[in-house]
Amino acid sequence: MNILELTSLVLTELIKINNKLKKLNSNVKKAIINFQPQVYNLLQIVNVDSFFKIQFYRIILILFFLQLLFCASYKRPNWILTTEHSNHITTFKNSIQFQFFIEPHSDLTYVNNLISDIFTFVDILETYPYLEIRNSLYKIVVYKHYKSYKEYRPFQVESLAHFDRNKKEIHIPLTIYYNHLGLEYPTPKFVMYHELIHAFLENCCEYSLWLNEGLALLLQNVQEKFVCNQTKILFPYGLISHKNILIDKNFELPIYPNFESLYTIYEHNLISGFFVYYLWGNRELLNTIHIIKNTSLYEFYTNNDLKKYQILKSKFYEWIKKIPNHEFYILGC
Ligand SMILES: [Zn+2]
Repeated sequence: MNILELTSLVLTELIKINNKLKKLNSNVKKAIINFQPQVYNLLQIVNVDSFFKIQFYRIILILFFLQLLFCASYKRPNWILTTEHSNHITTFKNSIQFQFFIEPHSDLTYVNNLISDIFTFVDILETYPYLEIRNSLYKIVVYKHYKSYKEYRPFQVESLAHFDRNKKEIHIPLTIYYNHLGLEYPTPKFVMYHELIHAFLENCCEYSLWLNEGLALLLQNVQEKFVCNQTKILFPYGLISHKNILIDKNFELPIYPNFESLYTIYEHNLISGFFVYYLWGNRELLNTIHIIKNTSLYEFYTNNDLKKYQILKSKFYEWIKKIPNHEFYILGC
């Protein structure tokens, strides 16, 4: 779970509350303003102009850099290392092996749901030609709730789950808890799917960072088996709600030379997500991956002619400007 997804999730939740709030009569609204000014202020941040949004993103970015500082002090919880103190399950999906390290006293109904969701997802994901699910061992560390995950998380930022590339482990809580809302509910399925895609990609494909992140953001939302030009994938509001940032800043495309050094990780992930959705919607995703395997995509597009890159970039921004401001399904290949 990265900053972009977390921000999206929080914003989506706040917008939902705001929509409910609109339905309340004005007296109730006044009461909320009087008695819960912090909640009301949060709602304003979501709803008002981009100045406040930018401040919000700045805070998220600072938190991200703090996350990097805290990585060094990460210690894995003891209960994972001693099997007698943890629930240790190994399951198989054909020849794919999943090893779960489950925190004691976890709700086993949630664990069962998680396992069955993973199996269903793998069945669907296997049909997509953009990655290969290799027969291998995938380790998943399951925390009973968000509070517990937060305790062992290698960084301070409010991430919901992560894939540890060094240890090749997915870390995920069974439930998510928001302090400011006082709510605890099962971790959304796409959080697990996103980290699973990172784990599968790590094992099969040496893609660049932008393609890795973009594919995870796209494929986390698949709901049906792949049929070129017939399958639809959800374009989530969490991503759409950030489109004006891209338009305002006119970022270069991820295939631009030194793209990674030009932008923050947040900006990097944002444009990577949009660009992969663009390639999918324009039936160019598979072709693009084929090209990347053989050559630099930037060289392919420019071929000593910068105009071709500029044309691709302007087509991309024209497409973004036409995206509606609500969730929708996008047909592609
Ligand atoms: Zn990711």
